[in-house]
Amino acid sequence: MSSPIIKSLSVKAANIPLRKTIISKIRSFDNWAIITTEITCSDGTIGKGYIGPYLADYIPAIASTMKQLFKQFVGRQIAPYQFYNEVMKSTSLMGRSGIAIYALAALDIAFWDASAKIAKQPLCVHLGGSIAPVKAYNSCGLWLNPADTLYDEALELIENGNFNTLKIRLGREKLSDDIKAIENVKKALGNENLLLCDFNQGLSLPDAIHFLNALDNQGLYWFEEPIDYYNYDGYKELRQRMKTPIILGENFHGPDDAFRAMDQKICDFIMPDLMRISGISGWMQTASIASAYRIKMSSHLFPEVSSQLMRVTPTADLCEWTDWAEPLLKEPYAIQDGHIIIPDVPGTGIDFNEDVLEKYKINL
Ligand SMILES: [Mg+2]
Repeated sequence: MSSPIIKSLSVKAANIPLRKTIISKIRSFDNWAIITTEITCSDGTIGKGYIGPYLADYIPAIASTMKQLFKQFVGRQIAPYQFYNEVMKSTSLMGRSGIAIYALAALDIAFWDASAKIAKQPLCVHLGGSIAPVKAYNSCGLWLNPADTLYDEALELIENGNFNTLKIRLGREKLSDDIKAIENVKKALGNENLLLCDFNQGLSLPDAIHFLNALDNQGLYWFEEPIDYYNYDGYKELRQRMKTPIILGENFHGPDDAFRAMDQKICDFIMPDLMRISGISGWMQTASIASAYRIKMSSHLFPEVSSQLMRVTPTADLCEWTDWAEPLLKEPYAIQDGHIIIPDVPGTGIDFNEDVLEKYKINL
């Protein structure tokens, strides 16, 4: 059976304005820098995807790495998982994290989209799953804003999609302000619903012990990244001291990092990021590792592809929903009763508004 051949790659980038400013312990963001990928095959199929590497100034370097990596695939039949393993095996000269991984992820997502389109199946069906609504939480707000603004904001986030799960960012100067913030969100959300929290690595280990001890009885579903993500000994200590589950994973660069974290038992749950985990292939490997360790797996950003992947993740828990890419997408996924609705179309259904890409263009 002859399959289509890979012909060409188109890479574009844009700095998309966010509807709400992100105010986190790492830094504030008014825009989300995005790279779009389109891979064209000999039968006219175009595999599409996007990544969001945060720092607009570094985007040309990632795009250039993508173009370099892509050269080895031109003229070949599409085989995303094989391609992924080839690149990972050859990374000893490039490194298995950072820009190399982001570039690989960008290509891998588009290869899988093309592969699913050629098979005329939605991505999750192509991967062996089925379409169904995916449980999500609304992560579009509750940044480090004044505590007295959070009741109204929580109500707005609940109403926009009928969500019953939210995430609050913590790590204000005064612990009492974090407690007030939690109280105000809980007033809107109700005690029976899940409230997650994220410290965005903002605390030192001594401060984290102090803050998390004080917050350990608040009934929060998880403590996300209280300290530097690479401080394994610190996480081991926090995990021993706290009863609230600790989650990390958005800073795993590839499945190796995920394996090390689970093997060393530094967290209770994981939440890989589609880009940093090295794309769909890297996600699938990580999902198998999480299943072996019986560890719940949530997602970080990229709700379209992540929701599809949750359908084939054995320990799938919560999908993070953000609207950051929506201006760029021709048909953003719908939200219904706090669930992401996967469209019944071949591939991911991701397509780009060219006028938005042009308006906020980053030169490559
Ligand atoms: Mg986070």
